[in-house]
Amino acid sequence: MSTPRAASPQLGAVSVATVVEGAPGLTSVPFGSNSVQHGTAVFEGIRSHAGPGGPLLFRLDDHIDRLLASAAALGIEHPYGKDELRRMIVGATAATGLADTYVRPVLYTPEARLGVDLARFAFRFGAETWAAPGTGTPAGPGIRLTVSPWARPSPRTFPTGVKATGNYAVSALAKTRAAEAGYDDAVQLDPHTGRVAEATIANVFAVRSGRLVTPWTRESLLPGITRDTVLRLAEDLGVDTGEEPLTVDDLAGADELFLTGTALGLVPVAHFENRELPPERPVFDRLDRAYRDCVGGRVPTRPGWLTPVVR
Ligand code: PMP
Repeated sequence: MSTPRAASPQLGAVSVATVVEGAPGLTSVPFGSNSVQHGTAVFEGIRSHAGPGGPLLFRLDDHIDRLLASAAALGIEHPYGKDELRRMIVGATAATGLADTYVRPVLYTPEARLGVDLARFAFRFGAETWAAPGTGTPAGPGIRLTVSPWARPSPRTFPTGVKATGNYAVSALAKTRAAEAGYDDAVQLDPHTGRVAEATIANVFAVRSGRLVTPWTRESLLPGITRDTVLRLAEDLGVDTGEEPLTVDDLAGADELFLTGTALGLVPVAHFENRELPPERPVFDRLDRAYRDCVGGRVPTRPGWLTPVVR
């Protein structure tokens, strides 16, 4: 397809460290591993950013809670408590020697056996860390967003809040087809209501007449930690905000659109389908600045949101 694609920050280009608990030096998983063969692993994505006194992990405890909830939902048994996961994730980040990273803790099974009763497998912790663009990196020109013909999975098919490696094939399908058509990402719709759910690895926000709206959690979506952060920052800033049903027409008529996710933070949308959005993004700009100040430890944040990365 010849449509030029908007530049977006490169994430995942350089993996800088692999830490596998209980197996120092082991950096690969057996090809026959059940987690490879069936996508039976649960994971998180967490960012660290340069702070005034060193790197800071953002909302580490919330990510650990979600990881533990994902494991519990799938009946994955593992030996780790919250403190140990916190120690290992901080350690995996520190091992890179970098401030701006994306850390991917995973609970996976190296056991090379078939079958899908997860209670029969031993799971353990591993983490891969990538160098990631810093909080000083300006928001790009904006992405091209389309609507995917592929709906999100129903909550009756799979719990929407669970981050399992296997269900990212759903996102991969929507994203790959959107990229083929010249777009950077796609909004996926709720399978029952046909309204906007989320993008392939991010939540969606729209601004209309100064009011900030994101789809409510009754649609089939992962209620992202960045989404929650943005809702709270918007409240702090006195922005009129709502979690509501959103249709494709609502997106098409929006003054501003942006995506939120741990990996890339707040990402402005420059084109929605064939329509070019206005280049001025006053609400996005305020929230993006507030988010960067927050994750970079430049302003006071909620208790527990910033964890120093100490070796
Ligand atoms: N939706 C999906 C499907 C995702 O994979 C992600 C990334 N975790 C998000 C939304 C955004 O969630 P968060 O802000 O917690 O990264």
